[in-house]
Amino acid sequence: MRINLRDIPDGITAIEVAKPDGSPDLPGFSDIGGRLTLDRNGDILRITGRLAYACRLECSRCLGWFRLEAQEPVEIYFRPQQAGETAGHREGELKADDLSVLTYRGAELDLWPAIRESLELARPLKPLCRQDCRGICHGCGRDLNREACRCAPDPEDPRWEALRALSGKGGAGKKGRARKGAGGS
Ligand SMILES: [Zn+2]
Ligand SMILES: [Zn+2]
Repeated sequence: MRINLRDIPDGITAIEVAKPDGSPDLPGFSDIGGRLTLDRNGDILRITGRLAYACRLECSRCLGWFRLEAQEPVEIYFRPQQAGETAGHREGELKADDLSVLTYRGAELDLWPAIRESLELARPLKPLCRQDCRGICHGCGRDLNREACRCAPDPEDPRWEALRALSGKGGAGKKGRARKGAGGS
């Protein structure tokens, strides 16, 4: 998305951001859009606002793919490129680290590299398909959102019944003793 400074007066200008889906500029992202405020002060531009976007992410717990829709605040500064600098050079000393300061040459500047960077930084490092995602059991490998873990035997499992009978403390043992007593008298 290119901005020509000849079209931009000093002061506030609203700019609409919209990028068609499947753009090669921002792999994995779609539905990027929003209204940003461009504040021009001579050669210096400050662009602020919020961008809505959607992206496809792999859940860090269950490894399922899901679509995240979110908004990201944007704050980008542009200043003219100085001799010896390369285009898009980031200025680290003048501004706080969390601000993007980009340079431009001539009368045209490209907003997309800065938007792409903002969105890529906004992408969560440990995405969750939902806050209470139960993930995958490390033992049996089952997706615990859909199936029960089968690492420990089920309490209803007939093997537990057999173990209870062997221990001799079940109801069947008491009944047996009671019958024996009745027969003896
Ligand atoms: Zn998940
Ligand atoms: Zn398991």
